[in-house]
Amino acid sequence: MPAPKTSLIGLDAGAMAAALIAAGFAEKSAKMRVRQLWNWIYVHGARDFAVMTNLAKDFRSEMDAHFTLDRPEIVTEQVSSDGTRKWLLRTGPGIEFETVYIPEAERGTLCVSSQVGCTLNCTFCHTGTQRLVRNLTSSEIVAQVLVARDRLGDFPGGIAPTDGLVPSGEGTRAVSNIVFMGMGEPLYNLDNVSAAIGVLTDGDGLSLSKRRITVSTSGVTPEMARLGEECGTMLAVSLHATNNALRDKLVPLNKKYPIEELLKTCRNYPGASNARRITFEYVMLKGMNDSPAEARALVRLLQGLPAKINLIPFNPWPGSPYECSDWDAIERFSEIVFNAGYASPVRTPRGRDIQAACGQLKSETEKLRARARLMLEESLVVALD
Ligand code: SAH
Ligand code: SF4
Repeated sequence: MPAPKTSLIGLDAGAMAAALIAAGFAEKSAKMRVRQLWNWIYVHGARDFAVMTNLAKDFRSEMDAHFTLDRPEIVTEQVSSDGTRKWLLRTGPGIEFETVYIPEAERGTLCVSSQVGCTLNCTFCHTGTQRLVRNLTSSEIVAQVLVARDRLGDFPGGIAPTDGLVPSGEGTRAVSNIVFMGMGEPLYNLDNVSAAIGVLTDGDGLSLSKRRITVSTSGVTPEMARLGEECGTMLAVSLHATNNALRDKLVPLNKKYPIEELLKTCRNYPGASNARRITFEYVMLKGMNDSPAEARALVRLLQGLPAKINLIPFNPWPGSPYECSDWDAIERFSEIVFNAGYASPVRTPRGRDIQAACGQLKSETEKLRARARLMLEESLVVALD
């Protein structure tokens, strides 16, 4: 069997040059080649070398012999009635991960995964019930953005889909913002996340602004400074509780890095300022963390921090041990936070009809597969009869 081709997607410029040289291409032209390829891959969205018409034919076929620009396989694509889109992608046996696209009037946010599964087990999170399969590579992270842009007609000459909203307006990109809020803990895969962010923000390629990329962490404090220094992206912290006893239960990583240490690390986060606030995510769990006293405690905890508070209605999953807070409780909570001077947008649940919450598509598909397998077995029985 021929060796699998190396994907050029997600390699930084240095790594791409090294890959070309290792494959036998001339060292002296490697830098120029990388510039040309980079433009084709990230500005034009090229999916194979044949379309790179300003490059010599021989070079293109040599490239094709060694490398690939193939995207992950799209296992499923679901479109919600509110325009939210969810893809389940696959790059190998058992390597399946999801990407969710959330369109709004003036921006489009892509929620990407950083791992298949997660080592942590936050009790309200469905991904937390799945074991870690492996870290995603930088190629697999960047490819999520390319797949979304392919499907949304976001590359030159692309055609926007008609079965869902895509933000419009002069110069508006379908994918304008990225959040690392899909499956996995990005700070346990920081090498690949950081390499991917380097590619996504490269001014000669996808050119996404660092201020439009947010990395969400459950609170891996030893890696937070590195994220700020190396990536310069926005930070979101999954706080979810105002005391250690409750946070130990909801986010068990708290036992290792408790609230005081987490907030101290946030206070020292490189680049945090009133113009670049840290987002604190707070999932609203009925009767668990949603009392007015806890809203006041939250405000006290964050005093002096350049913070935004993001209240997230809990998105239940089959068998989940919690319920979403009542709307009244969310409103009361949000009012206390607002009166303390924080804008506290309640994250509108999006894509509920397609279960677009963290980690939920994969399991649905697994169920579907089980059902499909059963049906297949049944039809075999019928055939044998
Ligand atoms: N591992 C990272 C990023 C992925 S989760 C982290 O924990 O921050 C992204 C956000 O979704 C986190 O704030 C997480 O707590 C939240 N989340 C997970 N499951 C949820 C659910 N069922 N309903 C609402 N929010 C959820
Ligand atoms: Fe992992 Fe984040 Fe889910 Fe916790 S909330 S289990 S860290 S993906």
